[in-house]
Amino acid sequence: RRTITRLPEWLKTPIPSAGANPNFGKIKADLRGLNLHTVCEEARCPNIGECWGGDNKNAATATIMLMGDTCTRGCRFCSVKTNRRPPPLDPHEPENTAEALARWGLGYVVLTSVDRDDLADGGARHFAETIRKIKQKKPTLLVEALTGDFMGDLDMVKIVAESGLDVYAHNVETVEGLTPYVRDRRATFRQSLKVLEHVKTVKPEMITKTSIMLGLGETEQEIWDTLRELRKVNVDVVTFGQYMRPTKRHLKVEKYVTPDEFEIWRQRALDLGFLYCASGPLVRSSYKAGEAFIENVLR
Ligand code: SF4
Ligand code: SF4
Repeated sequence: RRTITRLPEWLKTPIPSAGANPNFGKIKADLRGLNLHTVCEEARCPNIGECWGGDNKNAATATIMLMGDTCTRGCRFCSVKTNRRPPPLDPHEPENTAEALARWGLGYVVLTSVDRDDLADGGARHFAETIRKIKQKKPTLLVEALTGDFMGDLDMVKIVAESGLDVYAHNVETVEGLTPYVRDRRATFRQSLKVLEHVKTVKPEMITKTSIMLGLGETEQEIWDTLRELRKVNVDVVTFGQYMRPTKRHLKVEKYVTPDEFEIWRQRALDLGFLYCASGPLVRSSYKAGEAFIENVLR
């Protein structure tokens, strides 16, 4: 039986190919044999050609998932599998990840993970160790950590913030009013704001970053309120992307936001004082993060 897709035109993207971009082909070839699992490939991210390719190879960006593929939480927008007792951490992962990244040709890496509420430190030390080892082996590699909220344990946020990374990201995902319907019940909007605020408390010069999905039923006023709350705690960078329903068991899309509307929100974010903002239907929080960092922070 044929399925009828009602995706708007702007969400139908061509699959990237090596021919279109020489850097993309090289990064992809170099990945072979490194035993690194990228979110970019595993989630079949449509931005892979732009993130791995691009004209500036020092800006090549990829996202790596740490601490396994099983999350202790169950957000209603996310397709990662859930279990209260995921397998134990691999103690060699920080070393092996750092070693592989040092050999790969990236300029910017985003380290993210499932939420590990089963671990006493939520995996904060594992994150920090990975970052320290990466910086030892390849100091020029820019590192962004995209962490969970550590159940509001700010000491864990501090451990990651002081590990030598360049950007600390934590996603609020949606507006406050929708948070209880969208995110796992252990996540709250206020708790996420506290995480972002605390990074600036312990490391005032750190770039902080968050991401918001549009199309879940939020109102314009709610988006404005969210942006203002984020600026109040000095968040530097915000990204907007379209929420895409992973399966029928997940929340349905309330609205496909047009590219023009995304551009309007990007402009509004800049007007509010955000350092930079990536905003578009296919934007993910790590979208061309290396290029954005190099152009807006290092210039
Ligand atoms: Fe990878 Fe993120 Fe870029 Fe997608 S947006 S290709 S997941 S770095
Ligand atoms: Fe997915 Fe993160 Fe929620 Fe876990 S905490 S279900 S990985 S969005």
